[in-house]
Amino acid sequence: MRICVVAETAPREHRVALVPDSVAKLVKAGHEVVVQAGAGAAAYHDDAAYVAAGASIAPDAGTAHAGAQVICRVQRPTDAEVALVPEGATLIAMMAPASAASIVAALAARKATVLALELVPRITRAQSMDVLSSQATVAGYKAVLIAASMIPRFLPMLTTAAGSITPARAFVIGAGVAGLQALATARRLGAVTSGFDVRAAAAEQVKSLGATFVQSDVVSAAAEGTGGYAKAQSDDEAARTLATIAKHIKDQDLVISTAAIPGRAAPRLITADMVRSMRPGSVIIDLAAETGGNCELTVLGETIDVNGVMVVGAANLPATLPTHASQMFSRNVLTLLQHLVKDGALAVDLDDEITGAMTLTHNGQVRS
Ligand code: NAD
Repeated sequence: MRICVVAETAPREHRVALVPDSVAKLVKAGHEVVVQAGAGAAAYHDDAAYVAAGASIAPDAGTAHAGAQVICRVQRPTDAEVALVPEGATLIAMMAPASAASIVAALAARKATVLALELVPRITRAQSMDVLSSQATVAGYKAVLIAASMIPRFLPMLTTAAGSITPARAFVIGAGVAGLQALATARRLGAVTSGFDVRAAAAEQVKSLGATFVQSDVVSAAAEGTGGYAKAQSDDEAARTLATIAKHIKDQDLVISTAAIPGRAAPRLITADMVRSMRPGSVIIDLAAETGGNCELTVLGETIDVNGVMVVGAANLPATLPTHASQMFSRNVLTLLQHLVKDGALAVDLDDEITGAMTLTHNGQVRS
């Protein structure tokens, strides 16, 4: 089977879908891998490393796509890139399915099969294929580093000849994959950490990382829906959530917000008044910026200064740590490919719980 790895073209996208280590495993399993020249460069994998792993290098996107049965990429293709997809090929990428209707239709017209990596079900069996989890781990970690470098104070407590330093306070809103990694990272750097989530199951996980769980009567087992995700709140629950956060946020030096509801805009959890209640010099990193932001002042891709409180609308943080983000992404894609291949060829079984959930088009048919 001929598998191609293309160079990403989205702005500031530095990841690559397969790293040389995964390519070597695919080549060993008998597949032919073609890598577009420079595809791994921004993630610090040069063409020579891919050649050493057994791949061949294609000089441009057109040559890389030609004859490919499987195309692996990080971000969904542009219209121009869709035109390069060979008839009947299978595309594996993060498709951002909520806004992908026209691209998916164009791919279906080319009789392509499209597998959206975001739709891997959140089940134990599929954990090793789950790019949402692997990339959220990167985002949660990086968010803390950004905040730590912006605040005008140390994170750890220090006792020095020049006096004692009190530790910074870090508050994480939304204790899912990114939030738990943010809590762990902030704690490793010495901050006093606290976390909040509406799902009752998150409380134990927050505490296991040495953080305080911010209690509220909105926290319940019923707040959790299918797949471990949170459900949207009623207006009354949302108002009580805001009251809980307002009480806690004003004393925090760094806030990382990650709250999300699948398929919906991010819940608004940090009001402009809450931002103004914080001390100048404190920082909010809004990891939900791409779905509208948890903070009402967030602007995607920008940092807003509100009386000395910085509100960062974080955009695609995983791409800013491209080596490890790509390594993890690549492992997810490799495991998925191993799941899909039967007798050396790709077999898309729509009755399979994992494959069926992520297939947007199959042999030219758009699936609902
Ligand atoms: P996510 O990105 O959808 O949301 C982030 C967090 O925001 C979640 O913990 C959610 O509960 C929280 N949230 C939503 N609304 C909120 C509100 N109003 N106030 C405060 N917090 C709010 O979630 P995620 O990180 O992708 O995953 C959430 C959970 O899914 C995990 O903790 C885990 O239980 C489960 N999960 C399972 C698997 C698996 O089994 N393969 C993989 C990943 C995650």
